[in-house]
Amino acid sequence: MTPAERLRYSRQILFPGIGERGQEALLRSHAVVVGCGALGTFHAAALARAGVGALTLIDRDYVEPSNLHRQWLFEEADAADAMPKAAAAARRLAAINSTIEVRGVVADLTASNAAELLGAAAVILDGTDNFDTRYLINDFAVSRGIPWIYGGAVASYGIAMPIIPGRTACLRCVYPHPPAGAQPTCETAGVLNVLVSAVASLQVADALKILCGCADAVRARITTIDIWNGGIRQIDAPPRDPECPTCGRREFPYLEESARAPAILCGRNAVQVHERTRPIDLAELESRLAPLGQARANEFALHFVAEPYELTIFADGRAIVKGTADPAIARALYAKYVG
Ligand SMILES: [Zn+2]
Repeated sequence: MTPAERLRYSRQILFPGIGERGQEALLRSHAVVVGCGALGTFHAAALARAGVGALTLIDRDYVEPSNLHRQWLFEEADAADAMPKAAAAARRLAAINSTIEVRGVVADLTASNAAELLGAAAVILDGTDNFDTRYLINDFAVSRGIPWIYGGAVASYGIAMPIIPGRTACLRCVYPHPPAGAQPTCETAGVLNVLVSAVASLQVADALKILCGCADAVRARITTIDIWNGGIRQIDAPPRDPECPTCGRREFPYLEESARAPAILCGRNAVQVHERTRPIDLAELESRLAPLGQARANEFALHFVAEPYELTIFADGRAIVKGTADPAIARALYAKYVG
């Protein structure tokens, strides 16, 4: 460590859980943040300030004004310019800590780029908003033995859980199947910025233990928070399921491109998002989307206009997104509004 580094990180080095050896390990470490929204921007800012030597940030979306109340690295100019989140975050991090290496990747994480983007990670932080991507991260992380930290936050309610392959239950041990139907999202149920920072802090604390060589100090537990009611609850994670398809039988279907819901260009300026069978209650979704734009459902489909986009969502979970030819944007809109 250089004298400048020793000074810069001195208050963190004084903390016995990290110390000089831990700080040196952090400076040599590489973390990947998947999703650069509310959780991910907090992860990235905290890890950069802590001196994690290499950060990869992955996001498929761009900054909008409605992001600014909770997405810690973005400014009004980023929203005005519709900056890609990964690029805006990387630029901001370079100003916060110019001594580390930050790579902003504007892309959808898929089976085909997972090895390139996640392969060098010592830990992966979940800043995503959908279970498809989480199962992909879980498959990749378990297959390579890379720890990752699951997190989610909607309205006032959040959850965090570390996954250490080989030691703790994986995501599929706890959630064998994705939640059925449309889920509440930050776009439909709102979200509090203090919830996001609380959940992201729990995730980063575990990530720092892993990166500074103290992975044994990470406890296998599930933390849930209701930040509005002030309740924090921790339970031991269940033991690993020997029959778990992922960490037990070591089957990794999400690493095969064909298994993941592809988004297909279906003509000029429109993309079809193929979800796996996922029946959706269109009337219920209509009532959730109505405050956000023009929403009209019949028994077969829901038509939703969120300028400049139009989404047509079918009862089986499929959707056609008009107004973009970019599958990543279409998937992001789907995750936002359908969940
Ligand atoms: Zn498992």
